[in-house]
Amino acid sequence: MARISLERLAHAYRPGGPYALQPMDLVWAQGGAYALLGPSGCGKTTLLNIISGLIHPSEGRVRFDDRDVTTLPTEARNIAQVFQFPVVYDTMTVRQNFAFPLKNRGVPEPEITRRVAEIAELLDMVAVLDRPARNLTADAKQKISLGRGLVRSDVAAILFDEPLTVIDPHLKWELRGKLKALHRRIDVTMIYVTHDQTEALTFADQVVVMNAGEVVQVGTPDELFSRPEHVFVGHFIGSPGMNFLPCEVAGRLAWVDGHAVPLGADYGTTAGRLELGIRPEFASLARAGAGVPVSVRRIEDLGRVRLARCMLAGNPFVATVPDGVVPDGDAASVLLPPAHLHLYADSRRVVPLEPAREAA
Ligand code: ATP
Repeated sequence: MARISLERLAHAYRPGGPYALQPMDLVWAQGGAYALLGPSGCGKTTLLNIISGLIHPSEGRVRFDDRDVTTLPTEARNIAQVFQFPVVYDTMTVRQNFAFPLKNRGVPEPEITRRVAEIAELLDMVAVLDRPARNLTADAKQKISLGRGLVRSDVAAILFDEPLTVIDPHLKWELRGKLKALHRRIDVTMIYVTHDQTEALTFADQVVVMNAGEVVQVGTPDELFSRPEHVFVGHFIGSPGMNFLPCEVAGRLAWVDGHAVPLGADYGTTAGRLELGIRPEFASLARAGAGVPVSVRRIEDLGRVRLARCMLAGNPFVATVPDGVVPDGDAASVLLPPAHLHLYADSRRVVPLEPAREAA
């Protein structure tokens, strides 16, 4: 078990080449459940492989507690890994597969029996424990991989690289719940790599969001939703993502295409390329004249909620349609509650001069 610290860590795959990982400082607390979330090619696997020792970083240090492990091989790091595709010994039974990592380390037989039973129970594999792995389905094989990763109780961390990709969607939900339950029971740092926001938000207490080799925000699912620190997080988290509107700002007022929009806080004079951000959940459609003018392109009825896809000063904008509001033609407006507005300068959230008042 360990706290994992990355100090001025960066990586380029060839000397002088572009950074696959931009310089970063990051601490993964001992016992935390983390997700590493970002689109394909943003550097998730590179970062995971640096933590596991499969890649040595071109810059910076990796520490497990106070121990510098930057150049140590994987075997010397005491880490368990579960990959996207099953890694199982086909000729062994499920039981032998689970027991293998423990036998390898000379764990006493009664302890092996106890741990294997526990993991088999967790993964619903008690009934197939004595079946050879080769005869099982792809789902079951991936569950064996998970079990082999989870069976040791002495690891510094367990790293999961998109472990549920090959798993049937229904089983995915179930397994994710089980991993979460297991994390609560054992005090081991878990890092779960995914490009799927639902997977990240349901598994992790803290989500590390990456884009183009850079960590853009570390936060709880609630923080990522309610206060994205970067335009990328606003777009990437939420469905549909956050709305962004180019604007000008003076103190407590923003101007969007000549319309004044009161802000919930004082931003003084802010330099840079400014955008106002608001989530569709908090922007509501209203009759023309009540708020900032929009032209409604279409209404989507999602059952639970109706969304209006609009254009606002030449920008696509999504707003919630409140019960009872019936758009009359395409001319309408949107209400933008100040407490839910955020200001971004050059894609980063601007901290106001005084804190925003709580939402009413
Ligand atoms: P995915 O979800 O598709 O696996 P990822 O977020 O894990 O993507 P990485 O695989 O870490 O991203 O890749 C990050 C960047 O590094 C990409 O630009 C990729 O092309 C580059 N890269 C990855 N592996 C190598 C390599 N062995 N040699 C050179 N460049 C690489």
